[in-house]
Amino acid sequence: LFSKPTPVYEEKEVPVLGTIVRVKVAGDKVSSNVLLNTAEQELYRIHNKFSPNVESSVVHKLNTDGRVEVDEEALFLFQAAYNYAVITGGAFDPTVRPLLKLWGFDDINSQKKVPTQEEINKALENVDYRFIKVDEKNREISLLKDGVEVDLGGIAKGYAIDLVIQKIKGIDPEATGFVDAGGDIGIIGPKFGELPWVIGIRDPFSQDALKSIDTIYLTSGAVVTSGDYERFFTEDGKKYHHIIDPEDGYPARNASSVTVIAEKAMIADVFSTALFVLGYDNPALDYFTDFGIQAFVISPAGESVQTKGFDYFREKM
Ligand code: ADP
Repeated sequence: LFSKPTPVYEEKEVPVLGTIVRVKVAGDKVSSNVLLNTAEQELYRIHNKFSPNVESSVVHKLNTDGRVEVDEEALFLFQAAYNYAVITGGAFDPTVRPLLKLWGFDDINSQKKVPTQEEINKALENVDYRFIKVDEKNREISLLKDGVEVDLGGIAKGYAIDLVIQKIKGIDPEATGFVDAGGDIGIIGPKFGELPWVIGIRDPFSQDALKSIDTIYLTSGAVVTSGDYERFFTEDGKKYHHIIDPEDGYPARNASSVTVIAEKAMIADVFSTALFVLGYDNPALDYFTDFGIQAFVISPAGESVQTKGFDYFREKM
């Protein structure tokens, strides 16, 4: 009997979507490098199509013209963003861009600073997902008010991960590995075809990026962690990070880390941002499991809460 050769993992890092996306894959039918090239192409395509800072993107066009005609894929992503804004009561809100700009989180090159209350109040007038109109029939997205700007940063990374996995599996259904977009991880297939990938959840209170407080095991699906240590600056001894509470315009203060596990990275991505805004003392946490997620939330004081099914992923199967 011939036994299958051990899969050979190859890796590639692609700097897109405001982070570095690391793809690690072992092909079964085709060479790993073929799969990595496909992944890279898809990542650049998604970045150029949806980044508000790329002039040819649909989001840039929407923000400058107030309306844009979209293809099926863009319609899907805008619709998803809108629907999740509704579901999360606006905690996830794709119109936070005016606030991101004020704080300097709209682009890696932006100047980071604490805005004045007046600036925040003014920007808040333009932040509300209900200012987005998704016209499915005419395939058109429009903004209903001057000054409104969209940023799909809280959903596009997750979408990109899912798409890369889908493309890789389309070419080579037995391929294994994972896609890691700065802490947003989607599993292509179990390690060596059978073992779970071991994922450390970073300790949000440690400077050491490698210190973890928790370990989870995944053979499929996705895990996304949003932390206040990911993108932040300090001013006058206070720390300001990149997830903005659309309610008051300040970086969300009721969580220091949120980990969400779901079948799809896009859903995990959205809910990690939303739950970060909704915070540690959010009575609706278990309600969100209806959307197929499990979550683990750490408060700024170090307390933690989790949904009922989260423990399952701490067990090595
Ligand atoms: P990260 O993995 O870097 O933590 P997240 O998936 O948590 O990223 O999303 C953070 C990004 O989402 C921000 O960089 C910004 O573009 C956008 N964002 C910030 N606050 C919100 C919000 N309340 N709703 C939707 N998107 C947001």
